Amino acid sequence: MSKTHLGHTARKRFGQNFLHDDYVIGKIVAAIAPKNEQNLVEIGPGLGALTDPVCEEVDALTVIELDRDLAKRLRHHPFNGEKLTVIEQDAMTMDFGALSKEMPLKDKKLRVFGNLPYNISTPLMFHLFDHAHCIEDMHFMLQKEVVNRLAAGPGSKNYGRLSVMAQYYCHVIPVLNVPPGAFKPPPKVDSAVVKLVPHQSPPVDVVSVSTLERVCAQAFNQRRKTIRNSLKDSLSEEEIRELGIDPTCRAEVLSLNDFATIANAVSAKESQQEQ
Ligand code: SAM
Repeated sequence: MSKTHLGHTARKRFGQNFLHDDYVIGKIVAAIAPKNEQNLVEIGPGLGALTDPVCEEVDALTVIELDRDLAKRLRHHPFNGEKLTVIEQDAMTMDFGALSKEMPLKDKKLRVFGNLPYNISTPLMFHLFDHAHCIEDMHFMLQKEVVNRLAAGPGSKNYGRLSVMAQYYCHVIPVLNVPPGAFKPPPKVDSAVVKLVPHQSPPVDVVSVSTLERVCAQAFNQRRKTIRNSLKDSLSEEEIRELGIDPTCRAEVLSLNDFATIANAVSAKESQQEQ
């Protein structure tokens, strides 16, 4: 399979798998439903598979592209160059809060989308979760396995740290499955599109999000163990039972609400210990 598409040789280190299936592209653009009077931001526009049809619908689109050659191509795009604001940068270092203040529509949140480079998709989503307050919604193409994990609930084999943290920040809506043949070159895995809508206010009260993250990591790093074992450095069996949670259960059956209860108990215990 040729690694060259539209005169560009795909760079593996930038996770370049270019979409070329018009049916899939049409479905994604329909799901995004881009309109004027929205602050649209695309991550990793590449050769414009999503950029071009989105530009048919709107007058302005901001794109963030790390590959210098592709950023140059986009700046000089014969039809859409004038509509595009091209930011040649690593999206991982992008301050989306500052970007939202620089957008033409100052009172509106960002609508972010992209066919993400799979090698950085999970850390990039966590980076975006940190800016969730200035984001209206996100549409991302990801590995299907990652979408399954984002959307999974307690009891599912896909349920884990990513599910709990993503659902703390966002409403997760799987949109579309995409086979490898929709890309050039085709990736080795199946893909899927997901819509993430940041909650207006968190679904559970958490004193410290970093404690929630730490507790989830501890509990799921040893997912076959009971939480009385995996969380023993944070809470005793008795302290877990006092929260109304069975210490002999495993992490995979705990809800987001349970994790929030545990994290808040750990925060309270730690602040007592500091005094
Ligand atoms: N949107 C195009 C498409 O659907 O065909 C390209 C998708 S390709 C999977 C990922 C794109 O993200 C590439 O254009 C790549 O150069 C770009 N990219 C990779 N790492 C990036 C980063 N850290 N920040 C911004 N863009 C990045």
